[in-house]
Amino acid sequence: MTTNVHLSPPDIGPLEESYLLAALRSGWVAPVGPDLSAFETEIAARVGTRGAVAVSSGTAALHLSLLGVGVMPGDVVVVPTLTFVATANAVRYTGARPVFVDCDGRTGNIDVPLLSELLRRLRAQGERVGAVVPVDMFGSCADYTALLPVCQDAGVPVVEDAAEALGAAHGGRAAGAFGHVGVLSFNGNKIMTTSGGGMVVSDDLSLLARARHLATQAREPAVHYEHRETGYNYRLSNLLAALGRAQLVRLEEMMGRRRLLRERYAKLFAPVSGVELVGAEDTESNCWLTVIRVRERSCGWRAADLAAHLAARDIETRPVWKPMHRQPAYADADNLLTGAADGLFAEGLALPSGSALTEPQVGGVLGAIDEFLTACSAPASR
Ligand SMILES: *Cc1c(COP(=O)(O)O)cnc(C)c1O
Repeated sequence: MTTNVHLSPPDIGPLEESYLLAALRSGWVAPVGPDLSAFETEIAARVGTRGAVAVSSGTAALHLSLLGVGVMPGDVVVVPTLTFVATANAVRYTGARPVFVDCDGRTGNIDVPLLSELLRRLRAQGERVGAVVPVDMFGSCADYTALLPVCQDAGVPVVEDAAEALGAAHGGRAAGAFGHVGVLSFNGNKIMTTSGGGMVVSDDLSLLARARHLATQAREPAVHYEHRETGYNYRLSNLLAALGRAQLVRLEEMMGRRRLLRERYAKLFAPVSGVELVGAEDTESNCWLTVIRVRERSCGWRAADLAAHLAARDIETRPVWKPMHRQPAYADADNLLTGAADGLFAEGLALPSGSALTEPQVGGVLGAIDEFLTACSAPASR
């Protein structure tokens, strides 16, 4: 019997235990230390940027990155409406206003032609656009081949929200390396975790130095605690960096397990017309979450029906992010929409995707879906 399968739980084992214990025993507990700088170096090497700054969350990394590219109060910042709320919240922290743009319904990633149109309109309205923040949705990179020239032509810096996408790539280049600055998250549900944490990655070493300064209360190098501006307490601790280093050693392995799981879902749903995998054609995804889209008109059932069937068997699923333009907190924000994010919200379902799922758990999930599909395809006995 399958019990209590979660969507994307942490995948922690003996390697993490040994790294964490070694850091604890080294005495580097309060709060910076050698694991912190090593973690930054290793992440920068993995992403292919000149440097990195480890912070307490992906949200903090977004905040510092927006400040780093010069976003100011009163600016407009373009954010996809389909994202986790942190992307929009970080914009508000700076005093700028998020303006939401719709996604491509097949991938969930930012709709680049629509972004281009939005930037044209904002320019015509005389708005100063401080940044565009593409989000690499569910572990798949946005279409940077199309996006980067659009932002470059508009003279707007790109802050890449790669919180979900560490390990993914686009044309061989790693997620996180596309914008002027990139953001990673090591929250508990992400592809790798420090229990909570994030990283700013960039080639711009002065931006990184400033991020590091702001993340440590903007403390000047003086024994008496000198501060010339308002900083933040955003630094990651050395202990959590040790946990991150162990997870990074296992990143490829964990990605491989998620990919295998996605392939098994793909095989299961392949014969079902009306069900497709979101972003299925992206072979460079890190496969963080496998999301299906269910078209009731073709298959006769809704995503919520499958969700209820699985919930009754203690298997967790989730709708995709509720679009920002539907959130009460952002009801007053401007937007340019096509209905694509609304469609994904109505018809999408994220399936258990964690790398720590055991074979019996995976078997239980696939079996429960198979049972549901069989019942749905059986001739109705009414
Ligand atoms: C998780 C996530 C974040 C925030 O990361 P935290 O580490 O939880 O602060 C930001 N953006 C996206 C798209 C995310 O999925």
